[in-house]
Amino acid sequence: MISQDLFLELLYILVGLFWGSFLGVVADRVPRGESIVFPPSRCISCQRRLSPSDLLPLWSWLRAQGTCRYCGTPIDPLLPACEVVTGLFFGILPFLKIGFRQEFLLTVFFSFALPLSLIDWRHRRLPHLLTWTASLTGCAFGWTGPENFLWPVWGFLSGFLTLGLLSTLHPKGMGMGDAFWIGAIGTFVGATGVLETLFFSSSLAILSLLPSFLFKRTNGSIPWYKTSLPFGPYLSLGALLVMIDPGHWLEVLQSSARLSIPL
Ligand SMILES: [Zn+2]
Repeated sequence: MISQDLFLELLYILVGLFWGSFLGVVADRVPRGESIVFPPSRCISCQRRLSPSDLLPLWSWLRAQGTCRYCGTPIDPLLPACEVVTGLFFGILPFLKIGFRQEFLLTVFFSFALPLSLIDWRHRRLPHLLTWTASLTGCAFGWTGPENFLWPVWGFLSGFLTLGLLSTLHPKGMGMGDAFWIGAIGTFVGATGVLETLFFSSSLAILSLLPSFLFKRTNGSIPWYKTSLPFGPYLSLGALLVMIDPGHWLEVLQSSARLSIPL
């Protein structure tokens, strides 16, 4: 007999795997300008329509050893990767003990952040379709929550204007896509959250450049300081850190440690 907590945990992971499968479709189709609903999933090589048994997250991919079951063409590893990452992310949620509304908000944010990060990483752009939808969604949440009407609006403006200005001054270093994405993030985390997000994302970006600075110094013929990084994934990670609030998480860990080690 499995405990209620374990059952809940497995349920979160399972829902995450299925949701990740959809997010993979978003990341795959939006850059090509295709609908995320029609046509139903097909193999891009043999065009065979996939049956429900071909769409079981992770399992179908493992069973066919990463290839299409009908024609043997390798399946884009982005799809199972999305499923695993989302499954793990959902699996973490019950441990955060942040309440249903915050969990839901975090999940909605993650659902924009993951496809946008993957698209930016692969195609070096952040489609307006996703960043604008994320902004509207963030505003809708802000307006139905405890914050006042202007809270998400200030969040958007503070982020958008900061990176928008940078993008205008230095268009090669920062794109308008980044400005719209940090604007959208602002509708979820507010103006103060935007500052924290920029701090975390810049620190993470600098940290990720550190190995090439210390060891290689060059990336092919490009010196390390000219390496271009897609900033979208760092903005997403920074915002998730702000939303999860590591301080709160540490408190949860400490209190559970205190419970398990009676002093
Ligand atoms: Zn095929």
